[in-house]
Amino acid sequence: MSASTTRASPRRGLRLGATAWVLLSLALWTVGCVTTAIRPPSSARYQVVPMELTGYCNCGKCCNWRRSWLGLGDPVIASGPRQGTAKQVGLTSSGTTARHGTLAADITRYPFGTVVEIPGYGVGRVEDTGGAIKGDHLDLWFPSHDEATQFGKQRRLVKIWLPSNAR
Ligand SMILES: [Zn+2]
Repeated sequence: MSASTTRASPRRGLRLGATAWVLLSLALWTVGCVTTAIRPPSSARYQVVPMELTGYCNCGKCCNWRRSWLGLGDPVIASGPRQGTAKQVGLTSSGTTARHGTLAADITRYPFGTVVEIPGYGVGRVEDTGGAIKGDHLDLWFPSHDEATQFGKQRRLVKIWLPSNAR
């Protein structure tokens, strides 16, 4: 009896430590989400533009990559001028990590940092590009290919805030 109680205490300490760690990382994760939330600039004027919207995700189909060495190796770009070069899956062309709110656009029209409010999706920011994305066309990031294809292709009126250096 006494042996089991002395053995139990360090284990309980370990469990408490683990709980504290989980709570702490959960708190940090929540704070991270709050601070990185994309909001339209409150004072700046916006334009309303009809846009063609499509969904995309990190998969090879959506982001033009495949695995080298018969599908077992590291991801490489599947086609185009940079075919065969290493691909960092989930990293946008502006260097950010793709997440809900990440938009791919024609950056000659809507440069990186352009904020867009999209009905049925929320507020996003242009952080990515894509070979097929030209003109009034946005690609909206989704966490899975199913969700991306479910969104499909839609034509919507969106609100656009261009970054100040684009005006
Ligand atoms: Zn996909």
